[in-house]
Amino acid sequence: MLEICFSLPEDVKLVAVSKFHPVETIKEAYAAGQRLFGESRVQELTAKQPVLPEDIEWHFIGTLQTNKVKYIAPFISMIQSVDTFKLLQEINRQAAKCNRVLRVLIEVHIAEEDSKRGFSADECKALFTGSVLQQFPHIQVCGLMGMATFTDNTRQVRREFGRLRNLFEEIKSMPFAGRDSFSELSMGMSDDYKTAIEEGSTMVRIGTGIFGTRQY
Ligand SMILES: *Cc1c(COP(=O)(O)O)cnc(C)c1O
Repeated sequence: MLEICFSLPEDVKLVAVSKFHPVETIKEAYAAGQRLFGESRVQELTAKQPVLPEDIEWHFIGTLQTNKVKYIAPFISMIQSVDTFKLLQEINRQAAKCNRVLRVLIEVHIAEEDSKRGFSADECKALFTGSVLQQFPHIQVCGLMGMATFTDNTRQVRREFGRLRNLFEEIKSMPFAGRDSFSELSMGMSDDYKTAIEEGSTMVRIGTGIFGTRQY
């Protein structure tokens, strides 16, 4: 039986990233007490969700195409990977149709070297300026998400996470409506979650470290 034996500080949430793992594996983690799971593909998530317990909180963490938002809007607990303005517009539209207010994180590009997706720091700040977010009454922006460069260079990873944390603090001090619920900083994966927590992460997304390597 699978045990979720990550020793995280109490105030850091664990997103068990179950992408590419079968329903049976998720059931084992559920039996061990895990309720928060992350998936990165719409088709896979919509196949799994109906056959698993209703009290699972699903977080979407992958690239989300606007034309697929409608499939997850009715049940998703949080969309962590909002990387374009167009996606915000579509999430708001689909959330309205479901009579929901959807919780999201804004994904920020923090990796120095590779071309990971996300808003730049400046684009991100612009979202929280003036009345930009007020055009999305069906969205609650709960914080930021970011991925560091995939490298053994711990100092670089720390610097990237530190930058995201600073941006998070800066935005938190801005006077936008809804800042009270702006509280999550999702950073850290299997290889770098310790550094991420040291740099202020409130939410780590761990797949391999819990479930082993994925079979693609
Ligand atoms: C797959 C994935 C993870 C988990 O990665 P591991 O290295 O298996 O822990 C975390 N975040 C995102 C955005 C992912 O796509």
